[in-house]
Amino acid sequence: MAQLSDDCFAFGGPMMSVDDAVSLIAASVNAITDFETVPLSDSDGRVLAGNVTAPLPLPPFTNSAVDGYAARSRDIAKTAEQILPVAGRIQAGAAACGPLEPGHVARIFTGAPLPPGADTVFMQEDVRIDPSGKVVLPPGLKPGANVRPAGEDIRQGEIGLRAGQRLHPQHVALAAAFGLTHLKVVRRIRVAVFSTGNELALPGEARTGAQLFDSNRFMLMAMLRRIGCGIIDLGILRDDPISLAGGLKTVAGECDLVLTSGGVSTGEEDHVKTAVESIGTLVMWRMAIKPGRPVAMGIIGGTPLIGLPGNPVASFVTFVHVVRPTVLALSGALPEPLIPMPVRAAFTYKKKSGRREYVRASLRRADDGAIEAIKFPREGAGLLSSLVDTDGLVELGETMTRVEPGQRVRFLPYASLL
Ligand code: AMP
Ligand code: MG
Repeated sequence: MAQLSDDCFAFGGPMMSVDDAVSLIAASVNAITDFETVPLSDSDGRVLAGNVTAPLPLPPFTNSAVDGYAARSRDIAKTAEQILPVAGRIQAGAAACGPLEPGHVARIFTGAPLPPGADTVFMQEDVRIDPSGKVVLPPGLKPGANVRPAGEDIRQGEIGLRAGQRLHPQHVALAAAFGLTHLKVVRRIRVAVFSTGNELALPGEARTGAQLFDSNRFMLMAMLRRIGCGIIDLGILRDDPISLAGGLKTVAGECDLVLTSGGVSTGEEDHVKTAVESIGTLVMWRMAIKPGRPVAMGIIGGTPLIGLPGNPVASFVTFVHVVRPTVLALSGALPEPLIPMPVRAAFTYKKKSGRREYVRASLRRADDGAIEAIKFPREGAGLLSSLVDTDGLVELGETMTRVEPGQRVRFLPYASLL
């Protein structure tokens, strides 16, 4: 199930911009077309295979939005109070009693169907009951007030959910409101994940003095799960071009995407790039982004491969810009562009032009009420604490060269990235 042809990428030069990489992915990666039907309660996070049309209007019948008294608008006086007797009582879930006779009101509760003839509801807080039990209505209530007409939310036959929608709780709610029990979704994208590096040890196993525990794989697998992927966990591959190439080739035939971290720089012990070149086609290996410059994209037997940098922060940031759009494209999901929010910088920063930078920052509310971004004090791409102790990333565009306190900058909260 090849998703890419070897010549589908037009290689845009030695250092690809983030936007070019994202457009390239959108234009080149084909969606898989294997679908499955899942129970509604398992559908959160999945990608919808086809449009869902409303089988009934929402709300399905005209009902009261409040607890109160249903009236006919023609009975409502414009300027004086009106005193009307109560005829009938309609609870939520009960069928409306007969039509509302002119000159009467009906006691009604939130969600109960309006009786025929009634078109307006007085809130119980807005009326008085006189000693004889009649209801004293204030003047001037707008006809139609406090009524939820059938179909005001969605009309029958209208498209309620679109093909490619990644389902969130609100989408699941709409499908349930339609009375659906199952949804047809795209099957999960299978991603084979491994880390590369002789210095890596598996958490829980013995670690030599020159080793650190593999953290990227657990971060990347967690990120992949959040975007709905199925995972083939291949553990740690060592820095050896032959076994790396062998491992890549075997797994590429069994998954929709291969994801590695580490070993993509130009050092003598960075073998991912060479391994891809030996068994497939390399389409990109450097991106104009910091942290993260070495990012490899390649194709092995039609299956895309993404090689992320080894430094954890670089891995995190490039996942968001390369892996996320690739997974969305593979699953035929509607594009979900990241939309940064404007915040006020509370830091000074210098950068090189020509590349996009992401600065880890926390948010705080300043005395004047504005939201300010405070840069994490250190910059290393290996500092996991810089991701743990901040709220998101300040995005500094390619042409920027410095940030001054007070300047408006663009902020992407971590919560919006997955
Ligand atoms: P590399 O890209 O292989 O040159 O690695 C860059 C840095 O990231 C090195 O300090 C590695 O030890 C570190 N690194 C690579 N892979 C991982 C990983 N899976 N978990 C944590 N750190 C890693
Ligand atoms: Mg390495």
